Amino acid sequence: MKALVYTGTHQLQYRDEPEPAVAKNEALVEIEAVGICGSDMHAYHGYDARRVPPLILGHEAVGLVQNGARKGKRVVLNPLISCGKCNYCLSGKSNLCLQRELIGMRRAGAFAQYINIPEQNLLEIPQDMDPVTASLTEPAATSLHVVYQAEKLLHRPLNECRVVVLGGGSIGVFAALILKHKGCRDIYLGDTNSLRRDAVEKLDFGTIYNPLDNNQPESGSFDLVIDAVGSGRTRAASCQLVKAGGVISHVGLQDNEAGLDTRRITLDEIIFLGNYTYSVPDLQATIDLLYCGALGSFDWVETRLLADGASAFHDIHEGKAASPKLVLIL
Ligand SMILES: [Zn+2]
Ligand SMILES: [Zn+2]
Repeated sequence: MKALVYTGTHQLQYRDEPEPAVAKNEALVEIEAVGICGSDMHAYHGYDARRVPPLILGHEAVGLVQNGARKGKRVVLNPLISCGKCNYCLSGKSNLCLQRELIGMRRAGAFAQYINIPEQNLLEIPQDMDPVTASLTEPAATSLHVVYQAEKLLHRPLNECRVVVLGGGSIGVFAALILKHKGCRDIYLGDTNSLRRDAVEKLDFGTIYNPLDNNQPESGSFDLVIDAVGSGRTRAASCQLVKAGGVISHVGLQDNEAGLDTRRITLDEIIFLGNYTYSVPDLQATIDLLYCGALGSFDWVETRLLADGASAFHDIHEGKAASPKLVLIL
């Protein structure tokens, strides 16, 4: 089969690879479309010790089942493989399973013609669902999870809250689109890349700003700050922008530098909420949201062929890819 293989820092090769061997209780899925995630970029930059080359990356995938009880069905992959037996798994928090494992990390991912994956990680989708739309399920479910978790902690209903999202990648953009869908009317999004700001501006969900210029949103004015970057600088900005008693959702994983103002967090009773991935119900709810059009159309998503994946990674790295999401199709 053909696959896009990460072979070393800033190196990807589109080449022939052996077809995956399928174990008992696993499905073989022929991939139709697979998105490039920030975490794939992190590996490409050589920053992720868990992703050791040579490795097939990619986990935001949709495809066609080739074997077993669901042969012929179109599915989105739940890329988070969990044990299914621990207290976390049994209470619907499989994202916290101590044995969780993401495809494209230690085991092969989906930048390939075929992937093997446990049958329990398949989520059926409507047979006529557009493959690019379906491939957005994984990042959009991460954003849905953020909004659900934050909503439980906010003191006012979402439609009365002022929200700022830091970072206009797909997690940030989906968070903003979901907030708008849920009635939130006061949404800001900051991104330092001007191409990205222009692209996000067209989605028309709120005020887009450049965190590096003088025209900043008012400090201490936001009920909810979603940090979809996760750097020392965005953590510092989050602590400045949030209201007393407000919530910071930290969902980005860019670095582990200092930035949190723990004094302000304490004195102003700010809630700092870490968010990681999603539950299976979050994924299912997201498929419904995307399919019914509640988040609008996805003409803003850029697509390229898997065969051209190396140049797609290069362009994102150079800051030349304007769209918040780039999906590789087969
Ligand atoms: Zn992802
Ligand atoms: Zn478990």
